[in-house]
Amino acid sequence: MSTLIYTHAACFGHEPGPHHPESPARLQAVLDALRQPEFGDVVWRDAPLGTDEQVLRVHTPEYVEEVKALAPRQGYQLLDAGDTVMSPGTLQAVLRCVGAACAGVDDVVEGRARNVFCATRPCGHHAEANRAMGFCVFNQAAIAALHARAHHGLQRVAVIDFDVHHGNGTQHSFWNDPDLFYGSSHQAPFYPGTGSWQETGVANNIVNIPLSRGSGSAAFRAAMERDMLPALQDFAPELLIISAGFDAHQLDPLGGLELTDEDYHWITRELLRIADATAQGRVVSVLEGGYSLQGLASGTAAHVRALMGG
Ligand SMILES: [Zn+2]
Repeated sequence: MSTLIYTHAACFGHEPGPHHPESPARLQAVLDALRQPEFGDVVWRDAPLGTDEQVLRVHTPEYVEEVKALAPRQGYQLLDAGDTVMSPGTLQAVLRCVGAACAGVDDVVEGRARNVFCATRPCGHHAEANRAMGFCVFNQAAIAALHARAHHGLQRVAVIDFDVHHGNGTQHSFWNDPDLFYGSSHQAPFYPGTGSWQETGVANNIVNIPLSRGSGSAAFRAAMERDMLPALQDFAPELLIISAGFDAHQLDPLGGLELTDEDYHWITRELLRIADATAQGRVVSVLEGGYSLQGLASGTAAHVRALMGG
């Protein structure tokens, strides 16, 4: 079985404005990197459109209706107080993000793929049940987790998030359910301000690893080895979803954690090792942030190289 990659042209159609860091050029950089000869064994698929049923497993009906009603025919529509913007192509883009993540779950659970990477945008991990936040409209990682349970009857699903920002939305969705695990490494203090050590969920099913600016590889790996990986192993997920943001990369203009391509390769290998032990190797990774085009490209390449077993 191969590593499978979902993407869709509609994900270029989310255009938050010329000076917004979450640009269509990000996706182009990722696709250019993954179309190099070393990834020739990857199987490419067009992402299906996500459904209301999938979205509503995480988001409230009122919020979903609001997003649809606000979707502009031209120009921009702000969804939060800051920087979460809809353009005319945004609704289609975010529904492809949802569709990709859920199809990826179908593929790994039904044995059609070894693992899956979703080369889609925008990111999703800040989106909460009833609000958009931090460039995110729908939370495709959380939606994929709940899809695995509702559609495939899995019980224990984990999301591991190495984006430089804390995934407040995923934490919010998982907090009260002991069979959902959310683990995040992130820069702190930093946007969005959540993700302290003390935030542990209803059953220690939330593990937060806040890292100070400039932490670098050694601190990241030590914290993951000490606090994240053993907790994930103990949780024993039946499916592992990765919120793969690359804005902790040393080249990133927003993040300051100074991670390297080798760190992304390392953490991916470690997560696969646990997935092999507890989840029959089932891993679905979804692209989150990453705002240096070069760092995003090389970090993603290192991540997918590891997913392929390299
Ligand atoms: Zn981020």
